[in-house]
Amino acid sequence: MTWMRILVVSDIHSNLVALQTVLEQAGQVDQVWCLGDVVGYGPAPNECVETLRRFTLKIVAGNHDRGVTGQLDLDDFTSDAHRAALWTRKVLTLYNFQWLEQLPDYETLTDMDVMLVHGSPRMPIWEYILSSAVAAENMYRFETSLCFFGHTHIPVLYAQEGNGPGAIAIRLPEKQAVLLNGKELVNPGSVGQPRDRDPRAAFAVFDSNGRTLTHHRVPYDIARTQAAMREARLPPRLIQRLDYGM
Ligand code: ZN
Repeated sequence: MTWMRILVVSDIHSNLVALQTVLEQAGQVDQVWCLGDVVGYGPAPNECVETLRRFTLKIVAGNHDRGVTGQLDLDDFTSDAHRAALWTRKVLTLYNFQWLEQLPDYETLTDMDVMLVHGSPRMPIWEYILSSAVAAENMYRFETSLCFFGHTHIPVLYAQEGNGPGAIAIRLPEKQAVLLNGKELVNPGSVGQPRDRDPRAAFAVFDSNGRTLTHHRVPYDIARTQAAMREARLPPRLIQRLDYGM
């Protein structure tokens, strides 16, 4: 297997300014792995889809991607998310719409011993892994050693507790390589709408040779994204929350 430097991103949510900043800061990468929710909430769905397509890309669907394409019922979304999804559906090009429609529920990269999913291994689109208990229940629902997930917009590493059935949550340190050598569930955080009270864009870089992961947070021009959201008349609460990272 060849050595690769892989950018792992999730929950971009049509925030092109954040995505471009992440791509600049990540530097040269061989592949991009995206854990879903490319669109929804933000002002630049077409541009985000087209930017991702320029890379060698492994990508799965998120609930917002499925909602925008009509594959999921928007009645299950909050009213702001619902409004943003309808706006996104209206502005997407036909080609980009169809591209989103064909995203898989999950990806298993056997050669990398990695699974990619938006929600959780047992419920790929909808389940939120927000606790060690839920992480533990999912630990045996994937065959590979490692599973990357998104959906919660909160960066975290869940590792198997000893050889037992439990899982422990480990905070991902910034700019510090972490060795992934067991059974692990990892969330790189959200590019376009962080929810851990840190408004900076989040991403991770996976080194396939050393099997290390480095988590990064980068400030981006939030005001530029907010101005574009106002222009698009997206819900005010979605605009404000970017300031707080919630
Ligand atoms: Zn999301």
